[in-house]
Amino acid sequence: MKRTRRAFPWCLIALTALVPRSFAQGSSAPQTDPIAALVNQLDLDRYKATIKGLTQFGDRRQGTERNRKALDWIEARLKSYGCTNTERLQFEFTEPVKRAPPAAPPPARAGGPAGAGGSTLFGQRGATGVNIDASAQPDEHLRALNAEPTPQGTSLREDVYCTKVGTSHPEEMYIVGAHMDGIGWGEAADDDGSGTALVMELARVFSLPGVETERSIRFILFNNEETGLHGSSAYVARRKDLQGIESPKGSGRYPEPKWLGMIQHDMMLFDHGMPVARLGADGKPLLDPKGQPVYAPPREQRAEADINVEYQSAAQHADGAARLAWAFRAANDKYAVRYPAAVGFHMTNTDSTPFTDWVPAISVRENERGMQIGAGWNPHWHQPTDLYSAYSDKDFLLGLDAARTTLAAIAQLTGAKFKN
Ligand SMILES: [Zn+2]
Repeated sequence: MKRTRRAFPWCLIALTALVPRSFAQGSSAPQTDPIAALVNQLDLDRYKATIKGLTQFGDRRQGTERNRKALDWIEARLKSYGCTNTERLQFEFTEPVKRAPPAAPPPARAGGPAGAGGSTLFGQRGATGVNIDASAQPDEHLRALNAEPTPQGTSLREDVYCTKVGTSHPEEMYIVGAHMDGIGWGEAADDDGSGTALVMELARVFSLPGVETERSIRFILFNNEETGLHGSSAYVARRKDLQGIESPKGSGRYPEPKWLGMIQHDMMLFDHGMPVARLGADGKPLLDPKGQPVYAPPREQRAEADINVEYQSAAQHADGAARLAWAFRAANDKYAVRYPAAVGFHMTNTDSTPFTDWVPAISVRENERGMQIGAGWNPHWHQPTDLYSAYSDKDFLLGLDAARTTLAAIAQLTGAKFKN
C-alpha cells in the first residue's frame, strides 16, 4: 500500500501533462465569481467621497443654480467613469405646484394611525416635516449657498442619465435611479446624496474596462422629486412609448430599451430605530413647549439596521415587483457584508411610483417609507441637519451594503461578466 501511495502523485503529474492546457487551468484554479469580483470594486471611501462631492452644492433645490451645477458635476463624473453616452431629459415645471386637496386620512388601525402607501404607524413616533426657514441653518456658509429660492412661474428642469448597452440584448434594460434634488436648507446628504452616489458608483463599476452585460442598464438621476416626483413622471410620460424601438432602423441602437424593471434609491444611510423619549441632563424626559415628551431616534446606527426593499402590493405589476424585491433580498444575503435586507409591500412616495403601471418597480431605502420614515425615524429628513457630518461610518456602511445589494442583483439580472 505504501509503495502504491508514493507512486500516485507521479501518476497524477503524468496524467495532468496529457490534459489540454486550458482544461488543466480551469480545474486547478476554479473561476472566481464574476458578481463578487464586481461587488469588490465598491469601497467605503469612494462612496463617501461621492456623497461629499454632492454636498458642495448645498441642498440642490430644484430650479436653482446650485441644482444645475450639481447636474453638470454628476454628468462630468459619469463621463469620467466611462459612462460617456450621457443624455438629459428636459421638462417644464411650474411653481407654485398645484396640489390636489389632501384626501381624508384613512381610519386608524389597531396598531396606530394609517401611514403612507398602506402602512400602519406602529409604536412611538418622532417629529416629521420640511424645514422652509433659512435661518434654521446655523452654518453661515451653507445659509448663503442655499439662499437662492426656487424661481416662480414656468421654466425648464433636467434629469440626467447614461446607459450601459447590453451586448446580446441592447433592446432591453433595467433602470437604476435616485433623485439628485433636495430640500431643507442642509446638504441633502442622505436625502438623496446617498442614493445619487450609489447610482453613480454603480455606473462607475459597470463602466470599468472588461465589464460586459447581456442586457442594458440605465443609470438615472431624477430632478424635482421633492416637488412631487415631477422628474420621474416626465420621464415615464415622454419615454414609455419609445420602448424597444430601434432607431435608426437597422442600426442596432435602441434609444429607449424595453423596461424590464425599475429600482429607485432614496435615503440610504440612517436606521437608528424607533424614536425613544429623550432624557434631559437630570435624567427626566425632555418636554416640548406644549409639555409633551420629546421622542427622537437613538443617536447611533442600531446593530440590527437593515436595507428596506419595497414594492407596492396595489400596483399593476405587483407580482413581478415582488419577485424583483426577493431577488434583491437574495443578492443581499450572498453579497452584503454587514447589513441584511428586508422586503416590504408598501412602496410609496418615491420616483419608482410613476413606473408602477408599466413595469415591475421597487424602492431601496434605509427604512420603510410609510411605517418608519413616516413615523419620524430619521430626524434629519428635510432638515438643515441633513449634513455629511451628521453621519458616521456605521451609517455610510448601510448605504454601501445597499450598493452591493443592487450591484449584485442587477449584475445577475443583466448577465454581467468581468474579464479583469
Ligand atoms: Zn428623497
